[in-house]
Amino acid sequence: MRCPFCTSENTKVIDSRSKQDGFVIRRRRVCDECGSRFTTYEEIGDLLPMVIKKDLRREQFNRQKIIHGLQQACQKRPISIEVIESIASDIEHHLMQSSEREINSRQIGEEVMKRLQDMDQIAYVRFASVYREFRDIEEFMDELKGLLNKPVPLGLEDTENVASPTSEPTT
Ligand SMILES: [Zn+2]
Repeated sequence: MRCPFCTSENTKVIDSRSKQDGFVIRRRRVCDECGSRFTTYEEIGDLLPMVIKKDLRREQFNRQKIIHGLQQACQKRPISIEVIESIASDIEHHLMQSSEREINSRQIGEEVMKRLQDMDQIAYVRFASVYREFRDIEEFMDELKGLLNKPVPLGLEDTENVASPTSEPTT
């Protein structure tokens, strides 16, 4: 993106946020040459890869779906909507920076899980149980065992919820 003041191509993004259901992204940029700051609006459809669904249909990336899935996984967990939205934005930005034209919906699920795993183990397992579509209970238990062997952060000791994920598949 060229600087509108000095036409230098050395500009960098200092802030990105999406507006209007996530279809337009507003980017704050700074020019390395003259130090000017300016704002651009870009269509997300131009920047985000198409999502390949399980049945191989393609659809536009939709951050609301990530937020919805996270809200279900984080029910009754000490995680605010701001945190959930920041995870969705983080993934969105990550996808925009990748040059992929298409991405598997499963990869998006993995990105969500990576971020949840460090944050809240119960929400993580709930989300994983839906998105990873564990092929059998053994696989699920392996995942659980791996988690239970890790030190549990303070405030996450009510592990009885782990065995009964309440989330429904979202797609
Ligand atoms: Zn400039």
